[in-house]
Amino acid sequence: MCAMKAEKPEVRLWEGLTRSDLISLDACTRCGQCIPYCPIQEASGQRDISPPEKITMFRQLLSSQRGARAVLFGQRPLDREKLQKLSDALYHCTVCGVCGEYCEVGINCMRLWPDMRHKMVELGVGPFGPQKDTPKTTWEFKNPYGQPHSERLAFLPPDVHVEKAAENGFYVGCSGAYPSKPMVAGAVRVLQAAGVPFTILDDEWCCGFPLWVVGVHDKVEQFVRHNVDEFVRRGVKRLITSCPCCTTMITGNWPRYYGKELPFEVVHTTEVVADALRRGKLKIREYRKKITYHDPCLLARGPREVIRPPREVLEYVPGLELVEMERHGRLSKCCGAGGGIRRANFKMSIDMANIVITDGDKLGVDEMLIDCPACFERMHLAQQQPDHPSDLPILDLMDVISRLV
Ligand code: SF4
Ligand code: SF4
Repeated sequence: MCAMKAEKPEVRLWEGLTRSDLISLDACTRCGQCIPYCPIQEASGQRDISPPEKITMFRQLLSSQRGARAVLFGQRPLDREKLQKLSDALYHCTVCGVCGEYCEVGINCMRLWPDMRHKMVELGVGPFGPQKDTPKTTWEFKNPYGQPHSERLAFLPPDVHVEKAAENGFYVGCSGAYPSKPMVAGAVRVLQAAGVPFTILDDEWCCGFPLWVVGVHDKVEQFVRHNVDEFVRRGVKRLITSCPCCTTMITGNWPRYYGKELPFEVVHTTEVVADALRRGKLKIREYRKKITYHDPCLLARGPREVIRPPREVLEYVPGLELVEMERHGRLSKCCGAGGGIRRANFKMSIDMANIVITDGDKLGVDEMLIDCPACFERMHLAQQQPDHPSDLPILDLMDVISRLV
C-alpha cells in the first residue's frame, strides 16, 4: 500500500474532474456487466477493485464533501483510509478501457480512470508503489526505462536512410527504442521499402504517456512542446506513429498540452503501409503460416481506432491465414502491460499476458502477431517465467513484414 502523505486541504475531490467524468461517476448503475471482461478481474478475481467498486468508493467520499449531509451538517474531511483504498484500486488497472466497451451506460473509462488518478496525485495518494519513480526517471532520461538517452536510436538498422528534414516524421517511442527494438526497426524498414522518405528526431523525448497515465501531469507539456517544435523544425507535415500508447497520447492529448491543433497530421504505421500496398508501391512475399493477431488496447479502443489497417496489411501477405482471437477489435483483451501496472504489480501483469497468449494458443495457430511494443515486452517476459503456460511464438507485425518485402 502507498505511504500516506499530508493532504493538501485546498484540493477538493470533484474539482478538476470534467463534466463528463462527473456524469459518468453518477451514471454507473452497478449492473456489473463490465466485470467479467476486466482483465484484472480475470487474473485476480478481486471484486473490491472492480469498476463499479471504484465508482462506489468515489461516490461515498464525495457525499462526505458535497452531498445533502455535507449541506446539512457541514463538510467532513476526506476519510484518508477510504481515499487510500480508492487510490489503490485505481492504480490496479491497466486503463485498457474494455470496461467502457461493455458498460451499459456508455462510460468512457479510458478517459475516466486517468482523470481520477490525476485527482489521487493531487490529493497525495498517488501514484502507486514503484510508479512513483516514473516522473523523475522519465524527466532525467527522457524515457521511463531509465535507459541512456544517447542510445535512443540504437535500434536503427544501418541500411535504413533517415532524412534530415522531410514531410513525414517517424515517432519512435521509448518502448520501441529500448525493450522492443524489432517493432520500430521493422517499421522503418517497411516504410523505406514502401518508398516513404522520413525524418526521425536525434533528440526525441518520451511522448508523456507514462506520466499522463499515472496522473503526474506537471512536466507533460514540456515533453509535448519539445517534440512538436522539433518535428516542425524538420518540416514535418505528417507524423507516423508506431506504439499504441504514443499514438493515443499524440492524437488524444498532445493538442491539449500544446494549446492548439497540432501542426501536422498523425497516422499509424499500418495505415501508411496499407495505403502503399493498395497503391501497388509495396509487394510482400509469401508467408505460409496460420496466425492470429492481438489488437493492442490503445490502438483498437484509442482515439484513432486502428483496427482495419493491420488486417488489410495481413490480407496482402500471400499464403497467410488469419484466425481471429475470440475477443478482437474493440473488445480485445489487455495483455497486462498498460496503465503502469507492470511496474506496480508484476505478477498480475504477467498473469494477464499469459491469459492472452493461452487464448491465442487455443486457436491452433503457428504464431501470434502483435503491434505494440508494450505487449511485445510483457508477453516475452511472461514466456521467460518458470511454468509459463505456452511457448506460442509472439512476433511483431512490422518485424515480420520487413522480412518479406
Ligand atoms: S480499464 Fe481495463 S483493467 Fe481498468 S477497470 Fe476497466 S477493464 Fe479493468
Ligand atoms: S457496466 Fe458501466 S454501469 Fe455497469 S457496473 Fe460497469 S461501469 Fe457501472
